[in-house]
Parts: sequence; structure tokens; C-alpha cells
Amino acid sequence: MDPFEDTLRRLREAFASGRTRPAEFRAAQLEGLGRFLRDNRQLLLDALAQDLHKSTFEAEVSEIAISQSEVDLALRNLQAWMKDERATQLDSAFIRKEPFGLVLIIAPWNYPLNLTLVPLVGAIAAGNCVVLKPSEISKSMEKVLAEVLPRYLDQGCFAVVLGGPAETAQLLEHRFDHVFFTGSPCVGKIVMAAAAKHLTPVTLELGGKNPCYVDDDCDPQTVANRVAWFRYFNAGQTCVAPDYVLCSPETRERLLPALQNAIARFYGDDPQRSPNLGHIISQKHFKRLQGLLGCGRVAIGGQSDESERYIAPTVLVDVQETEPVMQEEIFGPILPLVSVRSLDEAIDFINRREKPLALYAFSNSSQVVQRVLAQTSSGGFCGNDGFMHMTLASLPFGGVGNSGMGRYHGKFSFDTFSHHRACLLRSPGMEKINDLRYPPYSLRNLRVLLVAMEERRCSCTLL
Ligand code: NAD
Repeated sequence: MDPFEDTLRRLREAFASGRTRPAEFRAAQLEGLGRFLRDNRQLLLDALAQDLHKSTFEAEVSEIAISQSEVDLALRNLQAWMKDERATQLDSAFIRKEPFGLVLIIAPWNYPLNLTLVPLVGAIAAGNCVVLKPSEISKSMEKVLAEVLPRYLDQGCFAVVLGGPAETAQLLEHRFDHVFFTGSPCVGKIVMAAAAKHLTPVTLELGGKNPCYVDDDCDPQTVANRVAWFRYFNAGQTCVAPDYVLCSPETRERLLPALQNAIARFYGDDPQRSPNLGHIISQKHFKRLQGLLGCGRVAIGGQSDESERYIAPTVLVDVQETEPVMQEEIFGPILPLVSVRSLDEAIDFINRREKPLALYAFSNSSQVVQRVLAQTSSGGFCGNDGFMHMTLASLPFGGVGNSGMGRYHGKFSFDTFSHHRACLLRSPGMEKINDLRYPPYSLRNLRVLLVAMEERRCSCTLL
């Protein structure tokens, strides 16, 4: 017995009926999402606190407000995004943005509201039916999404399904028209292989190790504040967090007291009691991170408490490239400082590894920042700050290579969930002029055609 069969059939039929296509329907669903966020603010804050010990501040900025702002942006721009885009000046060629059909969104646990709702906004705005599969690991939020969210949406067109790896694998055996997956590269490969069986296009929002280069020419306290905030935000369980710092041994010595100072200022003398520091999502991840504390030498922090899944904001030094902390994505409040002798060595270090989701460079010299940008590749880049680039809806968010494929946020989400259909409407008259293209072919006609091709390919059709 396939538990998804009936739901998927119902959603496919709803899409085929054309119900999701009118702008009014899409706007009504987006408004429903907005109401869901406003009516259930406390419930959402409680769920995030239960799952991740997420503070109200972090929950608001990184989950609730950002989802609400995506809803508002889509509502403001829906009509403009849906409009056909004219492709030629002279005749009627245009790009029509069509919904794909039935799309599947699979979400992770670290920003369990944001990473479910923000893609959902794009999928609804583009006119699709949607199956949402939240993470089974962020249990409190999974419950809210399964029990409360559907009340705010047309349940004939949108469904929340539950399950872990086995159920998701079973779900992926079905044909979808697009799969949007956020999670680890390893599971991303499983998702892509399953989608390939149906030739279903995928967006893969994956993770990896994000390098952070710190130049000698910098103010160490400013850099430490920014790096520490972004590394320890959500207890380091952020796909775009700086994963490790590359700097000279001299800068390392200047950064250490500055990091110590930033950590004490942010989280107090006993970070375990701080309401501002998140905790680790599960026992399994706690154990994994505890293991990483044994790499290199602990310079700051290093304490842990299994009963609260607490890991102190930690800085490691003297780590070897071969140690696990430099081999796997850390995804926790641990920051290794890796020594390099020069900018060239840092760039080489970065380029010898998989392309990251985000890359950071700190320097008072814009030339240094520009060199890191020019000589490396990553999903996104931010000079002299942490992951602020991903807060802008006017920038695409996504990875490259091992960190993923595809992009979303703002209009990029709408485009990701739309097929860009190439359309041309021609006149049934003026058949005489088409004689030029029909056999019997002649050199004279060919010459006329070639001139037309050169000059007019972007302004009108050839003939
Ligand atoms: P994960 O890959 O383990 O799980 C993600 C989703 O896939 C969950 O819904 C889970 O139920 C499902 N899943 C897990 N194993 C599966 C399997 N074998 N078959 C089918 N489905 C399966 O990721 P996670 O632990 O939830 O999240 C952490 C990872 O996600 C990190 O690598 C992080 O960098 C990445 N991430 C990326 C982004 C981004 O925007 N690029 C955002 C957040 C997290």
C-alpha cells in the first residue's frame, strides 16, 4: 500500500483542473501563508525554541520575518512576474511563465520554517500544486507544519507529508514535475538519482565547508565580532556559516583575544545559560560535534553537556587538514583557525576543495577582497561580513558544484518554479513571403535569408 498515492492523485487532478493558475488564487494562498505566520507567531517561536533552543531574536530575523518578507514581496510583484516577457520588437514572440505542475519541496531541520516556507512562496506564486516534506528531525516544527499550516491553504492543492529517509525515498519514486531539495550533498545525490528516473528537473540547495579568509590588514575586533556572530548564530547550524578561518599566524594571535572578547560579550561568562545561544538539534549531531572537539587544540571554549545538547562556542587552532574537522562540514559552534603564509596560499587552499556555498574575505584593502572574489568560485560571496548577501531578495541564493544547483529567493524563486515557455504567434496571412524558405532552394534566396539572420535574429523572426 502506497501512503502517498491518493494525495498525489488528488493534487495532480487539482493542477490539471487549472485551479492554481489564476493570479487571484495564487494571491489568496500567499495571503493565507502571511496569516499563518501572523496568527501562529508564538507557536512558531515555541517550536523553534523546543527544537533548537532558538532565541526569539534569531527566530524572528532568520525564520519568521524573512518568510513574511518573501510573502509580501511575492504579493507585491505577482502580476509583474506572471506577465509574458516580450522577446522581439517587431513580431509577437514572448516568454510565458508556466507552472511546472506538481512540485515536491524537501526541507532540512536547521531553519525548519524558513527553508520550507520560502521555497513554498515561489512555488505558489508560480502557480504549482505542492507537496511539502518537512524534516522529521525538527519535530516540534514538523508538527506545526503538518497540523496548522494546511488550515491556511487550499488543501486540494497543497499537502504536507511526513517521514524520514525511508518514506522520502518512497515519495521520490513518484513522478513530480520539479523537486526542490535542501539538505546535505550526500542526500542531494540520492534525490537527483531518483528524479532522473522521471527526467524531473531538480533544484539542489546543499552544504559544504565555507572558507573565510582574514587578511593581515584588518581590525581584528571588527572581524571577530562579525565572524563570531555568523559562526555561532543558530549554534553554527547554518549552511552559509563561515566554516573555518584562513589567516596568517600573526593575525591568528590578534584574532584569538578578539574572538574571546566577542564570545564573552555575546553569550556572557557561562554561555550554557545564555538565552541567546542555540543548542544542538539531536543526540546524533551532538555526538558528532563532540568528536570534532578532539581535533587540533582548543583555544577557546570546548565544553559540552550532553543532557542539554550544549556545545560551547569554540575556537580550535593547530588543526591538520587530514583531521575530521577539516574534512566534513562542521555544522556546529566550532571554528578552526587555519594558518596560511599568504593570500596566494589561501586561494590555493580554497581552490583545492569542493566549491563552497558561501565564501568570505575580510580586509581593509578592497584589492584583496576583489582578488579572492576573482580567483575563486562559490555559490555566493560576501566581503567584510558574514552571510548578509543571502538576506537580499535581489540576489540569487544557491550553490555551485558540490554546494548545489539552481537558485531562489524573491523573483528567482518564481523563475525556479516556472517553465519559461518560448512562444511565437504568427500571422496566417502573407504566405507569399515564405516562398523564400521553401524548396526548390536557390542561392539568391539563401543570401537574402543569411542577411536577415545576421540583422534581425533578436528583433523579429527571419521571414
Ligand atoms: P539531510 O540531507 O540529512 O536531510 C534533508 C531532508 O532529506 C530531510 O527532510 C530528510 O528527511 C531527507 N532525507 C534524509 N536522508 C534521506 C534519504 N536517504 N533519502 C531521501 N531523503 C532523505 O540534511 P539535514 O541534516 O536535514 O540538513 C543539514 C544539511 O543541509 C547540511 O549539509 C547543510 O549545509 C544543508 N543545508 C543547506 C542549505 C542551503 O540552503 N543550501 C540550507 C540548510 C541546510
